[in-house]
Amino acid sequence: MTTTSTTSRLAGLRDRTVAERRRLIAENTGVELARLDVLEPVSGLQVEQANHLIENVIGVMSLPVGVATNFTINGRDVLVPMATEEASVVAAASNAARIARVRGGFTTSSTAPLMQAQVQVLDVVDPEAARARLLEAADEILRLANDQDPLLIRLGGGARELLVRLVRSQVQTYVVAHLVVDVRDAMGANAVNTMAEAVASRVGEIAGGRPLLRILTNKADLRVTRARAVFDAESLGGPEIVDNLVHAAALAEADPYRAATHNKGIMNGITAVVLATGNDTRAVEAGAHSHAVGPDGRYTSLSHYEKDADGDLVGVLELPMPVGLVGGATKAHPVAQAALAILGVTTAQQLADVIVATGLAQNLAAMRALATEGIQRGHMSLHARNIAVTAGASGDEVDKVVARLISDRAIRSEHAEKVLAELRAAQ
Ligand code: NAD
Repeated sequence: MTTTSTTSRLAGLRDRTVAERRRLIAENTGVELARLDVLEPVSGLQVEQANHLIENVIGVMSLPVGVATNFTINGRDVLVPMATEEASVVAAASNAARIARVRGGFTTSSTAPLMQAQVQVLDVVDPEAARARLLEAADEILRLANDQDPLLIRLGGGARELLVRLVRSQVQTYVVAHLVVDVRDAMGANAVNTMAEAVASRVGEIAGGRPLLRILTNKADLRVTRARAVFDAESLGGPEIVDNLVHAAALAEADPYRAATHNKGIMNGITAVVLATGNDTRAVEAGAHSHAVGPDGRYTSLSHYEKDADGDLVGVLELPMPVGLVGGATKAHPVAQAALAILGVTTAQQLADVIVATGLAQNLAAMRALATEGIQRGHMSLHARNIAVTAGASGDEVDKVVARLISDRAIRSEHAEKVLAELRAAQ
């Protein structure tokens, strides 16, 4: 990571104007203020650039980018850019990070950036023997794979291992070869797909069958990142809240209906950072949900919480984090480049650390709200802003309309329109 002494404690950031916030972010990260100009929609992703990213382009869609504060990750303060349309996500992450920093913030660990590609082989008469033959030829197959990506090899990555599984389906038993590839600072899908396509016919020959599918698996379970934080009992609101949070997490572990929502809360944080940095949100989500299925085949929570010896709450989150600093839209999207500059990360693993820490913060914040006052109060006041703006309020009208919607306990668009009309008539 960069050496700039970022402080993520930007108290009162929410009371500043957008321009002031950018200036503060620039000052605190060492990123040149002009680099943040791309966050202005008119200078962000241009239609011409978008036209090179996907097909049949007709325009671009903007989303809010906010910055979560208070994060300390592995002893370093970091400001976390998040792209999301959902109100309260950025505030909640910042809030939980503030509680985590009382006990030192987030600590992470990761495996090597290992992705896997699968090659499916059909019509093999002796699958067990085919598996053995493929493993005997592992060096030849890995060499063939590595010939595809000299740049990746130069950077210290490349195909490391061949695994072979026999997958019994209703149709037949398939021989499935896995190439395990160190993809360094790439998400790696294209890199491993190229390798899988290159080795497929040789794999088929050795196995004595017909190769069919050749593609990465999004169940990236060899590329996981864990984040851990101790949440101070007093800052959480007292020992009773710690106990309630342990119960909240226990229900998510035991019940798939609760786990789905618990994990959605985690993904509120994760997807927002993945998106802000131009990474593939669907790949990360597929990896996350496949990781949430335990060895017994049951869908469960991605995070775990315990009370430690001091009575504080310890949270741990582990999931695959296939994100990159190169490839996809990471380099092509100007806002993604600005987001990476704000984060000050120099490796994909450091980016993964930030993303998983944000997921844990988001998770704790949602659980805490649910286990105390419920999420509707916070959500509805932010929701009231949306309703006010949608009804046509602008400038200082917004706060006035929001205050009325809340005091009237009627956060509805027709009421917002009525309040706005009254307000304007009174002026
Ligand atoms: P990529 O091929 O654009 O970039 C990876 C390549 O960049 C490497 O092969 C290497 O040659 C080079 N490189 C340069 N510097 C590097 C560094 N520091 N570390 C590693 N490699 C470096 O992209 P990718 O990451 O292989 O693939 C990501 C894209 O693939 C995403 O856009 C994703 O949406 C897409 N994709 C995803 C899936 C899926 O998830 N199922 C399937 C197909 C494609």
